[in-house]
Amino acid sequence: MAINLSTGAPVIRERRLNAILSYNGTASDLNEKSKNAELKCSGRRYGQCSDCQEGCAQSMASFVKGGAVVAHAPIGCFAAGDSVRDNAGRAVTAARKRGEFSNTAICTNIQEKDTVYGGMEKLRKALREAYKRQNPSVIFITTSCASGIIGDDVESVAEEMEDELGVPIVPIACEGFKSKVWSTGFDATFHGILKKIVREPKERKKDVVNIFNFEGTDTFTPLLAKLGLKTNYVVPLATYEELASLSEATCSAQICETLATYISHGLEEKFGVPEVKAPAPYGINWTDGWLHEIARLTDKTDVVEDVIATEHARIAEELEELKKKFEGKTVYILAGDAYTYNLSNLVKDLGLKIAGVTALHHDQKADSGEINILEKLVESAGDIHNFNVCNKQPYEVVKILKKVKPDYLIVRHQGLTVLGYKLGIPTIFEGDANYSIGYDGVIRLGNRLWEAYLTRKFNENVAAHSEFPYTDWWMNEVDDPFYFEKGGKKS
Ligand code: SF4
Repeated sequence: MAINLSTGAPVIRERRLNAILSYNGTASDLNEKSKNAELKCSGRRYGQCSDCQEGCAQSMASFVKGGAVVAHAPIGCFAAGDSVRDNAGRAVTAARKRGEFSNTAICTNIQEKDTVYGGMEKLRKALREAYKRQNPSVIFITTSCASGIIGDDVESVAEEMEDELGVPIVPIACEGFKSKVWSTGFDATFHGILKKIVREPKERKKDVVNIFNFEGTDTFTPLLAKLGLKTNYVVPLATYEELASLSEATCSAQICETLATYISHGLEEKFGVPEVKAPAPYGINWTDGWLHEIARLTDKTDVVEDVIATEHARIAEELEELKKKFEGKTVYILAGDAYTYNLSNLVKDLGLKIAGVTALHHDQKADSGEINILEKLVESAGDIHNFNVCNKQPYEVVKILKKVKPDYLIVRHQGLTVLGYKLGIPTIFEGDANYSIGYDGVIRLGNRLWEAYLTRKFNENVAAHSEFPYTDWWMNEVDDPFYFEKGGKKS
């Protein structure tokens, strides 16, 4: 689908990518059904929890170095979405040697009176305050259900205040009620960046690759340096100028399609920066394929085969050792859409059998329409049974894990890691998505899983002293974790 920057917001994922929130079956079946967008995003019959797209929008905007964020929202939305970002940013900027990082977001604190009389004056005041406190190079305004429902004209305030303050002001339309798929919030920030920040290229930097990621460890630089290329990490920790010159890179890649196909496709469509149309570099064969594709786009095909052969040889011995340790063992993976597929491809290289996966949502297609990661996964790792889509919902996940009984669990989202511990399963938290990329990433993930195994007694102790807050009926009498989704009622 062409990206339409004349609108204030992206088309939500349910409509644009036919995203779904619930599925139970196999990887091959989901792939076949996705090709014709057969599955519908009907919402959940019973939802224990959810996230809001405002959090995803802010996870990008609030990490722009030298920028500021004004959340036009009640304080509750703000607390849910934004309060921890500054500390995380400081830690990673230090690790990446990017100097000081400080980005304290401001909330307009919409209250009952504002929902009657409007909150635009409060928004103007907050923008002045953000400017005064932080002297930012850019200010992002994130919206909320409340600002959307009362119809505050955020775009016109942004334009008016841009004139007054003399800095770019970027509205991000991320009202939680508009999309059931929280990842739509990433698209909302990228929409604002494409629309208001990225400029026409002054030059084409032939050795620069845009890498869309979160605030993770710097693992792409050493990998791309083997081809003589430089990494331009975006959006977290990038400056306004680095965002403006995204159009000058030679190509764009991402840690997973769920995060960034909207902007990488937009850069290709609007500014001619090609998107790397290969799965992200998780697992040996996908790292090979990713390097091949980047080499093709950057004119490095003469060196790529040597690089790959050297890297394979370098990790071969350690990989064999790890494979012996994991022989006959199973793993369950719980992560966001495409990142689940990335990790699934990686663990096969360690000799682990995939007991099942839970993806937190599933996009039945990608923005470019040319990438189908799920199909690539089925080709690469074979079919996967116990293939589930579930937007967190611990009550379902617990039942799935109890049934499947994996030897290991990998969890991308912190709040769910505890489920593995409470069930006594050696569990690792995959919080830093950059950490497992490339050839070294395979080894790192293997070592981390083995360390988790060595401390399994701790998990067993936790499990022995833990209980879940669910009834005996749910835990022991109901067999199907998707009981409610299939129309069941509490008896
Ligand atoms: S924007 Fe809406 S869905 Fe998001 S936290 Fe606020 S009230 Fe909740």
